[in-house]
Amino acid sequence: MQDKRIKKVVIAGGGTAGWMAAAALSKLLGKNLDITLVESDEIATVGVGEATIPTLQYFHKLLNINEAEFLKETHGTFKLGIKFENWRAKNEDYLHAFGVTGQDCWAAGFQHFWLKGRQQGIASDFGDYCLEQVSAVSEKFAHLPNNGLNYAYHIDATRYGQYLRKMSEAHGVTRVEGKIEQVKQNHETGFIESLSLANGKVVEGDLFIDCTGQRALLIEGALHTGFEDWSHWLPCDSAIAVQTKSVAEAIPYTRSIAHDFGWQWRIPLQHRVGNGMVYCSKFVSDEQAKAVLEENLVGEKITEPRVIKYRTGTRRKHWNKNCVAVGLSSGFLEPLESTSIHLIQQSIVRLMRMFPHTGIKQTDIDEFNLQTKFDTETTRDFIILHYCQHNRSDTEFWRHCRNMPIPERLSHRIELFKETGRVFRKNNELFDDSWMQVMIGQGLIPESYHPIVDNMSDDELIRFLDHIKSNIKGTVSQLPNHQAFIKQYCNSG
Ligand code: FAD
Repeated sequence: MQDKRIKKVVIAGGGTAGWMAAAALSKLLGKNLDITLVESDEIATVGVGEATIPTLQYFHKLLNINEAEFLKETHGTFKLGIKFENWRAKNEDYLHAFGVTGQDCWAAGFQHFWLKGRQQGIASDFGDYCLEQVSAVSEKFAHLPNNGLNYAYHIDATRYGQYLRKMSEAHGVTRVEGKIEQVKQNHETGFIESLSLANGKVVEGDLFIDCTGQRALLIEGALHTGFEDWSHWLPCDSAIAVQTKSVAEAIPYTRSIAHDFGWQWRIPLQHRVGNGMVYCSKFVSDEQAKAVLEENLVGEKITEPRVIKYRTGTRRKHWNKNCVAVGLSSGFLEPLESTSIHLIQQSIVRLMRMFPHTGIKQTDIDEFNLQTKFDTETTRDFIILHYCQHNRSDTEFWRHCRNMPIPERLSHRIELFKETGRVFRKNNELFDDSWMQVMIGQGLIPESYHPIVDNMSDDELIRFLDHIKSNIKGTVSQLPNHQAFIKQYCNSG
């Protein structure tokens, strides 16, 4: 391939993806690399991407980020899960919380014990057996020993970029301002050699990271890598984002509220709330979606509603020649489970693990692409689950989603759970307990439970279930209020 030592890394684009890549590469590999980030003041970042999942904690540990300082800088809050309202059916809700539900015991998962308890009328809602869910709805939060309470964050995306920029520049990243006009490639190999900017500057490099967002200037514009469209599985193609002033204490969870043609998000920060509507343009116009969003806002608007169009799917290769696509340039999955920043982080960590110091090898490229494909596809399936499994048939949009064909791997997972209550995590995939929480939350109740549960007498089962619930109740009663905790914590950082 290209046996040239990699010395110069060029990151094209300075949104969340660009600055996350810059911060990680400069902190961990910076001593041996010359890293330049090119961004254009003329081209705004997408400006959304404010809900995260717990894995961001690991990324921050890698970067040695002080959590209190990070939350103060990004006006962030803690997130224990996502509340799905009107998804299973109108006026019904459930929470997908980040923790484990119940207690794993014997040969079967907790759901089997809960299922029998439910049949006997002695078990309450599945979520009542999850510490993170009970803490979330009680609006309480604190750090517990041994990661006892699993959490993520809500952040201001613009402030997060600025925070990472400061860190990256302190670690030696050079920021070049300018609009990329031309991507110069080697005539023989097709490898990218340099970026020419409108202001006449030329930025040369050995390895290029495409973080130019939906424009995908390098991976697609120059390399024509190709795109796999997934809109037949995830039909939403539009979003409207708007920010409002906070009128109440910040809750420690994201709200996802289903409407007749899509869904609305509410992301509580310390100083404001991020809101938006995700919808499918085949079922509703931008104007109608905007009207419904505005009707459902709480608090005064502080930005004008902004329409964002997108295409769901993935780049055919995420690493092509000497270009790695990270962030929106690599594809897009809607923000229902807040997975995009996680996928950015995964790609960055994967690139660092496979960093081609001594030259770019096709085996590295193939392995990178295989791993990224698996991550993206399993995440995609988890998101599709919310759309295809529910009891809503009240609008054309929800009927369409219920009847659409779904990927075979997902269909097998759903059938297996339905018939047997079993669910398995494959190859270290991202979601684990979450599959169960969302399948049950969306109204899929298995037809049978594992016979091992019958080894317990009814009294033992009652004691077992009550014990879990009362432990959770005891723990939550000791936790402080989330808003009060944030205030005190950020002042300590
Ligand atoms: P962008 O933010 O678009 O940045 C692109 C950069 O490239 C900019 O700096 C721009 O200046 C630069 N650029 C482009 N063209 C040129 C050029 N010609 N010359 C020089 N520079 C150029 N993710 C989550 O994890 N959680 C969420 O809750 C979430 N919500 C979302 C909601 C919506 C509606 C959408 C659309 C996305 C959401 N995402 C979410 C995804 C998340 O916003 C993105 O993954 C993340 O912001 C990364 O974007 P990016 O850096 O790839 O692109």
